[in-house]
Amino acid sequence: MAGAASKKEVSVAEKLDALFELQKIDSEIDRIRTIRGELPLEVQDLEDELSGLETRISKIQEEMKELDTEILDRKNATKDAETAISKYKEQQNNVRNNREFESLAKEIEFQELEIKLHDKKSKEAKVRIANKKELLDEATERLSFRQVDFKAKQAELNEIVGETQKEEDELIKRSEEAKKKIDERLVFAYNRLRGNAKNGLSVVPVDRDACGGCFNKIPPQRQLDIQSKKKVIVCEHCGRILVPTTIED
Ligand SMILES: [Zn+2]
Repeated sequence: MAGAASKKEVSVAEKLDALFELQKIDSEIDRIRTIRGELPLEVQDLEDELSGLETRISKIQEEMKELDTEILDRKNATKDAETAISKYKEQQNNVRNNREFESLAKEIEFQELEIKLHDKKSKEAKVRIANKKELLDEATERLSFRQVDFKAKQAELNEIVGETQKEEDELIKRSEEAKKKIDERLVFAYNRLRGNAKNGLSVVPVDRDACGGCFNKIPPQRQLDIQSKKKVIVCEHCGRILVPTTIED
């Protein structure tokens, strides 16, 4: 491959340095993503709660409207019944016999019962409206509180995303640059190790005579080999690539 041929000869020590540098960059990317991690979920939860409350409110309003319509319908029906009653009463003045009079009296009685029923049902509907109004007020109040929370969380998220996105983009660029210095086979191994490890570490320094990834002891001779950086040495236990102890200043 032309690309491989044009790559400069790199010593193992340089490769190891480049690998460790790459690890540090990628660990920083992991750190940023962890910070951001929970916030989008929290914002999503609030958004779900808001839409749930909105659905609830419009459902209550819909039910209240139906009850209003019912009351109005019963009011109109009562008027019709009253009109019918006065019509029957008038007819009672012009009956030819007792049977006709009684028949009209029954009609009047029926209409009066209807009026009573409409009145009872309307009163019940009014009680139900009052109860629903209480629920509506509760939900509306909760909604306005939650909207304040949501706006604050979303602003926080936007700020953090804005701040960290730039940093992350730069780190990703640096990570790509670092990978170019390392041959593909090693990058492949590095990525596979990173994918397998929970903490995303595939290149670790020796830490107090032990592997910095799995903390198993490393024999002294092996530690010397690691220090010399003459070849790529992996941990016998976890397979991570080992680099010399770093002295933090
Ligand atoms: Zn190990």
